[in-house]
Amino acid sequence: MSFQNLGLAPSFTSLLEKENFKQPFPIQEKAIPEILKGKDVLGIAQTGSGKTASYVLPVLSNLKVDASKKDRQPTVLVLVPTRELAEQVKDVFQSFEKACAHPVKTMAIYGGVSINPQMKAIFGVNVIVATPGRLLDLIDVNALQLNKVQTLILDEADKLLNLGFKDEINKVLSLLPPKRQNLLFSATLSEKIEGLHRLLLKNPVTVQV
Ligand code: AMP
Repeated sequence: MSFQNLGLAPSFTSLLEKENFKQPFPIQEKAIPEILKGKDVLGIAQTGSGKTASYVLPVLSNLKVDASKKDRQPTVLVLVPTRELAEQVKDVFQSFEKACAHPVKTMAIYGGVSINPQMKAIFGVNVIVATPGRLLDLIDVNALQLNKVQTLILDEADKLLNLGFKDEINKVLSLLPPKRQNLLFSATLSEKIEGLHRLLLKNPVTVQV
């Protein structure tokens, strides 16, 4: 199996070669075609499996950006448990966004740093990778709105729940438009994850490695 056969836009395949991604990892082989089709996906995969690219590539390939419009309404939202993961996921988006037809702006937001520069930088953003608490703080001060989100991704969802972010996640869900694609990635399939899965995913495809 090669990346060419998975249905990504051709601009991605040449960039993947440059990044030394010669062949898709198993999670990518399974998840990319489903995400491209717009399906909700439950991905059970460990760090190191290539799970990040398994959603970043198809989400970017499907992303439609209106370059003439800049606002504070991202179309892709990734929720992550930690600042480190927020930075890592943002870096993966940035390494592949060159393959998009229009410029894409991705931003990581997390707590523990000053909020003002984040408020300014959100303008014109398409993809937000955020820890839940700071995301809600920024929504409270009207620095961003979630009403245009088309794709929601929860990465390391088991860790998000173990760190006690359940209430924040519920609050974020209440602010999203009902019609959207949902992707849930977790290293384990616990009872808590099953609960989130039932709450969040519509007719999902499960991919497991
Ligand atoms: P992740 O599980 O998303 O943290 O990814 C683990 C590592 O594998 C990262 O350093 C990626 O850059 C790398 N990686 C992901 N997919 C591929 C691939 N198809 N070929 C080569 N390296 C990859």
